[in-house]
Amino acid sequence: MAFSFRGTDFIGFDGLLNDDERLVRDAARQFIEDNLIPIIEECNREGRFPRELVPQMGQMGFFGASLHGYGCAGMSNVEYGLVMQEFERGDSGVRSFVSVQSALVMYPIFTFGSEEQKNFWLPQMATGEKLGSFGLTEADFGSNPGGMRTRADRSGDEYVLNGEKMWITSGSIADVSVIWAKTYGDRGVEDGRVRGFLVENDRPGFSSWDVHGKWSLRASVTSGLALQDVRIPASNLLPGSDGLKSALMCLSQARYGIAWGGVGAAMSCYDTALQYSLMRKQFRDQPIASHQLVQEKLAWMITEITKGQLLVLQVGRLKDQGKDGFEHISMAKRNNIWMALECARLARDILGANGITDDYPVMRHMMNLESVKTYEGTHDIHTLIVGQSVTGIPAY
Ligand SMILES: Cc1cc2nc3c(=O)[nH]c(=O)nc-3n(C[C@H](O)[C@H](O)[C@H](O)COP(=O)(O)OP(=O)(O)OC[C@H]3O[C@@H](n4cnc5c(N)ncnc54)[C@H](O)[C@@H]3O)c2cc1C
Repeated sequence: MAFSFRGTDFIGFDGLLNDDERLVRDAARQFIEDNLIPIIEECNREGRFPRELVPQMGQMGFFGASLHGYGCAGMSNVEYGLVMQEFERGDSGVRSFVSVQSALVMYPIFTFGSEEQKNFWLPQMATGEKLGSFGLTEADFGSNPGGMRTRADRSGDEYVLNGEKMWITSGSIADVSVIWAKTYGDRGVEDGRVRGFLVENDRPGFSSWDVHGKWSLRASVTSGLALQDVRIPASNLLPGSDGLKSALMCLSQARYGIAWGGVGAAMSCYDTALQYSLMRKQFRDQPIASHQLVQEKLAWMITEITKGQLLVLQVGRLKDQGKDGFEHISMAKRNNIWMALECARLARDILGANGITDDYPVMRHMMNLESVKTYEGTHDIHTLIVGQSVTGIPAY
């Protein structure tokens, strides 16, 4: 028996948002309540991505939401963040799908692509007619993507790509993948420089397979990609991509949305635990919410959620003014996902035995957040990014 979400706002946070921001947040919240909440437990149980929701997500402007032109909604970064919050309140896996489509595929096309690439791909991706994936990680190179083995050899007017990518969200359902590879034989470009390529998934030599047996992000597709002598026209290179820093710019976009998402997952866990604790009676016919130890957990959760909201709102405000740094985003991603995972664990505890079932969303959030803690820069890698920022000393 799940509870309906009542919103989480301890210190008048809504008062820090303008009318447009509240409107966007409320529309996303309603969309998630009406469309995702009723089916998510079944999707999670079956390990199924709810693809049927994609056209409606496109109509609502959720793909590439913070990009301007090319059929995109042109939201502010704070509005986009609030959308991510609501998606992750629904499910981290479905939020991951939207993050990849928006921040990891549409953003690099928008930022590094030619006008022709933008005109072709962005409008179709904004509606969800075309889906994308982002291939950076390899089985042997996760936290250190610069070690990648995937290569793109220049051959006349073409590139020939060889390599394998691993842990790629939406990899097997995508129409196109942004593949990061080391280039060789490209005149004027030093050999081994990392650049981004648009690779249509139906190119000969391109294959994908799905990771099965996941206990996390079960409503999202996670794949491996193999490229064996995949030939693409030279015009499929993202011309503005130049070195690993271009890939890291995409990750910054995605991590920003993830930091908001953590608040959403935590809100879901907190609100469920609060409502449950007021209803569940143990000892002297009293609700468990009347016990000090339960109240301590709830107080911790609402305090940390509130701090997480303020942190990510300020990062969003900086981003809207063009004053954000990747270290600010690292702090927000690291803190908010840790906070959300702790909230999920405490909520599971408050729900007792009921907490381990999918009658309630908390165990699903907890399992999902284990992935979110690892991907897009692990918790510890973000610690090192913040550490380097304050000391000036890289400690990787
Ligand atoms: C469900 C899911 C979806 C994903 N989707 C995508 C995707 O769409 N596209 C994509 O490209 N990738 C994707 N990834 C990959 C993800 O980004 C990597 O898993 C992540 O970067 C971590 O790499 P790794 O798993 O190889 O761990 P490792 O890098 O092997 O890290 C293992 C542990 O070692 C620690 N560690 C590593 N180096 C250091 C160091 N220098 N100092 C201290 N500690 C260190 C880490 O913090 C971690 O605790 C996804 C992963 C998952 C689980």
